[in-house]
Amino acid sequence: MDATHTGHARLRQLVVVLGDQLDHDSAAFEGFDARQDAVWMAEAHPESTRVWVSQPRIALFLAAMRHFAAKCRARGWRVHYRELADGPSMATLAMLLAEDLATLRPARVVMVEPGEWALRAAVREVVAETGLPYEEREDRHFLCSHAEFARHAEGRKQLRMEFFYREMRRRHAVLLTAEGEPEGGEWNFDSENRKSFGRGGPVDILPPQRFLPDEITARVIEDVLRVFGSHPGALDDFDWPVTAAEAELALQDFIEHRLARFGDHQDAMWRGEPWLFHARLAAAMNLKLLDPRQVIAAAEQAYRDGSVPLASVEGFIRQILGWREYVRGVYWLHMPGYLERNALSAREPLPGFYWSGDTDLQCLRESIGQTLRYGYAHHIQRLMVTGLFALLVGVEPKRVHEWYLAVYVDAVEWVELPNTLGMSQFADDGVMASKPYVASGKYIERMSNYCRSCRYDPALATGPDACPFTTLYWDFLLRHEDALSRNQRMSMQLRNLARLDAPRRQAIVQQAEAFRAGLRAASGGAR
Ligand code: FAD
Ligand code: SF4
Repeated sequence: MDATHTGHARLRQLVVVLGDQLDHDSAAFEGFDARQDAVWMAEAHPESTRVWVSQPRIALFLAAMRHFAAKCRARGWRVHYRELADGPSMATLAMLLAEDLATLRPARVVMVEPGEWALRAAVREVVAETGLPYEEREDRHFLCSHAEFARHAEGRKQLRMEFFYREMRRRHAVLLTAEGEPEGGEWNFDSENRKSFGRGGPVDILPPQRFLPDEITARVIEDVLRVFGSHPGALDDFDWPVTAAEAELALQDFIEHRLARFGDHQDAMWRGEPWLFHARLAAAMNLKLLDPRQVIAAAEQAYRDGSVPLASVEGFIRQILGWREYVRGVYWLHMPGYLERNALSAREPLPGFYWSGDTDLQCLRESIGQTLRYGYAHHIQRLMVTGLFALLVGVEPKRVHEWYLAVYVDAVEWVELPNTLGMSQFADDGVMASKPYVASGKYIERMSNYCRSCRYDPALATGPDACPFTTLYWDFLLRHEDALSRNQRMSMQLRNLARLDAPRRQAIVQQAEAFRAGLRAASGGAR
């Protein structure tokens, strides 16, 4: 701790700031008085060990937190900052806070509502035990409050992102004409967002601006390697924006150099090209280095200036104003029970190679490899490669959730959990998605060049060269045929399944079972 209250009058208020609340203009600092108030922050060891958090994610959080604390001090604010303990420590964030509240005894505690259900409960409990007054303020970084989302959900049998998104466009007057109609006459240009790169691959990609470690980040990297050296991932390429100023530069870089082509190729994948035309801004927004309003406004302005086509801008804004807000709404509406959902009764362990990338399935090797190296994969790699594989194998959703929470620099539970458990694993029985996102290896072949250098053939479901995705896809439909037959949106896939005769079905089931048994046998000691 770098300051104590000795010699000061009693603290008027202690402002608790979490690793994903790094905004000096947040509601927590309203009325902040540097003469009487102080900031409290802590690097709690279990935050990196309750799931096996990757080195890039730990480093990003710690680097951003230490930069934030440095800026507070530079403003003359008192900061009580608990740095990472050297050895393993069981002290959770709530325990560290309890200890410090006992010694600091502020007149009251203030913070913005934590974004994670369990942490919010733990902080509330700790402060309640001290008997100190506690003020939890609404997180202003979101464009839809809990109450507004609850109102949207009220009386609806099923939630759908598209309706929510239209409401948000209207409420916040985003991409509307003067008459209040959607720009371009359509709400959604999704059908224009699914192009692959064709045989030639992407051209003229400008790699994103890099933010190489300064002194503070270099020390964080040393600490992470020392304390979490056995954790997955690597730090050699660490170049994420770790301050608000850097995040703003990253936003400008995206708007100028990649947004125009974001729309067309949102879903495409290519070997050795981790960023393509993606924003790389989720982590900065989730840590609150960047306000989503600012991101949306910058994208809309690029359209109004005529420098970026509408389909790209709409596609990008839909992700932030639509999906990002929608998943947060789903999270708070359904927690804490959501975490336990397993609608398809999936029970398999997570294959060990998820922690190493060591597999001969080229698409997984590539997607997991870049994930561990950078802490990043884009949406379709997460949904239609790593997520799809886990769904088809039948991995227990909670294990899949733990992996996603551990490996991505942008992973925070309110956004990761509905995406993983709901959208990707269909474990919530259709709360997030109207049907399971399932496809065979042919989808990956169409959207990437992964299959060209793979030993498997995406067209084959059985035999030694069969693509495991294709085998497992048909096996998935067979295993869940009854339940899926009640879902209108699955009817085409089930009609194709109906064409398979009994011997073919049996061969697929046998091959899928043998493949799963192989995964189980190999999984044992990976972690
Ligand atoms: P871009 O592809 O450039 O998209 C722009 C922005 O839109 C993102 O920065 C993000 O803020 C937002 N966005 C896009 N898709 C979604 C979505 N489905 N849900 C919420 N916001 C979205 N996103 C996270 O921020 N944290 C997570 O932990 C996370 N886990 C995911 C797990 C799975 C299984 C899946 C399928 C998706 C997950 N996503 C998560 C959503 C999405 O994959 C990432 O936001 C995106 O890949 C981040 O990269 P980017 O900033 O380059 O985004
Ligand atoms: Fe992946 Fe199958 Fe293509 Fe290989 S053939 S890259 S396993 S989809």
